[in-house]
Amino acid sequence: MARATRAPKCSVTVRAPARLPESRLMNAQARLAAASLVLTLFGAACSPGADKAAEPASASALAASRDVHAFRIGALEAVALRDGVISLPNTEADSPWSDTAAATTLLTASGLPGDVISLSVQPLLVRDGDRLVLIDTGAGGRMGTQNQLVTSLRAAGADPTRVTDVLISHAHGDHVGGLVGADGSLTFPGAVVHISAPEWDYMKAGAAQAGEAALLAAVTPRVRPFAAGAQVTPSIKSVALDGHTPGHTGYEVVSGTDRLLYIGDAMHSSVISVQRPEWVNGWDTDSAAGIATRQGMLERGASQSLRIYAPHFPFPGLGRFQRRDDGFVWVPETAAQP
Ligand SMILES: [Zn+2]
Repeated sequence: MARATRAPKCSVTVRAPARLPESRLMNAQARLAAASLVLTLFGAACSPGADKAAEPASASALAASRDVHAFRIGALEAVALRDGVISLPNTEADSPWSDTAAATTLLTASGLPGDVISLSVQPLLVRDGDRLVLIDTGAGGRMGTQNQLVTSLRAAGADPTRVTDVLISHAHGDHVGGLVGADGSLTFPGAVVHISAPEWDYMKAGAAQAGEAALLAAVTPRVRPFAAGAQVTPSIKSVALDGHTPGHTGYEVVSGTDRLLYIGDAMHSSVISVQRPEWVNGWDTDSAAGIATRQGMLERGASQSLRIYAPHFPFPGLGRFQRRDDGFVWVPETAAQP
């Protein structure tokens, strides 16, 4: 399939929030800063004459920017893109952690509701030179999610047809579901889809049983499997994070001395996975490997103050692990944005 060559449109417009109440001013200013970075991100690619970017934005444009969080990784520009939220009852039948009472205690101690497991879903967009890279694709509306990815992508000023590379952490529906739209066509028709070789085998073997045969057929011509540890794009290297699925993969984004680790589903909860990495996660195909991966990641992350991007932690999922008492806690870079 030929790559799209159409110039992207500038779709983010902002204005000074002069009439906003004081209590909302800080949020609005933060959003303006993020939107400004987004315009920097994609503004250079805007077609000449797209002067509408300078026009005042409606309040709805500001509201829309709640679904994107722009930040930098060294010289690279990146955007967290909200897709939705998976909410599960904290019951034995639904939770991946069997000790639901202990999970309730942990969640409530962190100020969260104890009766629900709430997992945000946020793919990551990275501008890597002339490549527009999307890491994971959200759920495409599966698992009760809101299917917001394409809307968020457009709010970030990027057109889905301009995405050149899609990097997949693993083949579960909340990560590959957004590869196709409701009509079954490719959401990112110009993108090469990168996935680790063992994960690709796992996806092919399980797609029919998961009811995803059509998705598999649509995406197969675009897939380029890679070996664990491969450099996937100039600034992004794959990292095997064993345990969750047979070829589960993280991605390390490096620019100069700055780096960020996209951890996929090595961890799901910013509370339970971080504070109790030794708990068996029922969603892991190899529980022991999953535990070892979480423990190693926490040790390395805390000792190196490694910047982490966790696609299921509270939006935007950006922060660091910190050693506390006998264990670890998650320290978000920005306040969680509900
Ligand atoms: Zn997931």
